Amino acid sequence: MRSTSPKLHIGNYEGALRNWVQMQDEGYEMFCMVADWHALTTMEGKESGRFAREVAKDFIAGGIDPAKSAVFIQSHVKEHAEFHLLLSMITPLGWLERNPTYKEKQADILGVEREPYGLLGYPVLQTADILLYRPVGVPVGRDQAPHLEIGNDIGQRFNRLFDVELFEPYQYLIPKDENRAKLPGLDMRKMSKSYDNCIYLSDTADETAAKIKSAFTTPTKLRKEDPGVPEGCAVCQYLKLYSPDWERQWAEDVAGERGCFQSKKELTEVINEFLRPMRERRAALDDGAVEEILVAGAEKARSVAADTMDRVRSAMGLY
Ligand code: ADP
Repeated sequence: MRSTSPKLHIGNYEGALRNWVQMQDEGYEMFCMVADWHALTTMEGKESGRFAREVAKDFIAGGIDPAKSAVFIQSHVKEHAEFHLLLSMITPLGWLERNPTYKEKQADILGVEREPYGLLGYPVLQTADILLYRPVGVPVGRDQAPHLEIGNDIGQRFNRLFDVELFEPYQYLIPKDENRAKLPGLDMRKMSKSYDNCIYLSDTADETAAKIKSAFTTPTKLRKEDPGVPEGCAVCQYLKLYSPDWERQWAEDVAGERGCFQSKKELTEVINEFLRPMRERRAALDDGAVEEILVAGAEKARSVAADTMDRVRSAMGLY
């Protein structure tokens, strides 16, 4: 997760963090990284370090247990930079120029003349982040699939070029439910902080209520009796994910037996209930404890990353 902002939103949770927590609880060894270098491809200013600490808090608030999983900041493990450099020597430029998310991100940033060199190489650094830990799987939201494909291609190319079997193809673990893989925002576009359409894990109960109040519903449903179209309504989509009663709520919406106000009120209750334990865990974290968690996490990550780098250098004949 990039530290372009100090807050994770429920899209980051549904697309990725929920699976991280589930895999951790199933006993997988997890490496949970805040990508502060990656954040610099599209952010200005020098807040990445401070934001990174806040994102780490959201990991823990969301259920990552630092006693089980390594929580660390990318720039604290320098092996990521060395491996990125070496992988950049074997990655064909065409693979990066063809990357569909590259053009999209280009449009996001300040203007083509400001486009940084690092933006094109984003998937190469991401590949270094992944392959250093030689993982079986990488749990991410749908938008990351093209990058992960490039990563597997680079890993296989490395094996071929240097005649080793160092990197096994990893799986991309994307939520099966399409709404979780790409959670809609309050305005039904993809939830993303750049659209200002997010519910954040750290929002207060009142902030959440106010956001849901202004959320997008069926535009033609002006009165309670008008039929709703839940497929196109953000409130109904969230009810489906968070309310055990969603089938009844949807049926009433379609039949004109409930108004949007009622749906919003019920959604506010279930979302606030869902976020309550996260808010409590976050409130219990102090900055000193987070620093200690990050030092220990980086140490654990480094021990694995350093071993991979020994093998990489040896494969490439660098000694
Ligand atoms: P952002 O897209 O907000 O800048 P990142 O690029 O750091 O965030 O993405 C962090 C993780 O969250 C990735 O695995 C990404 O796929 C996932 N993610 C981001 N937005 C959503 C969304 N709306 N729905 C599902 N997953 C998402």
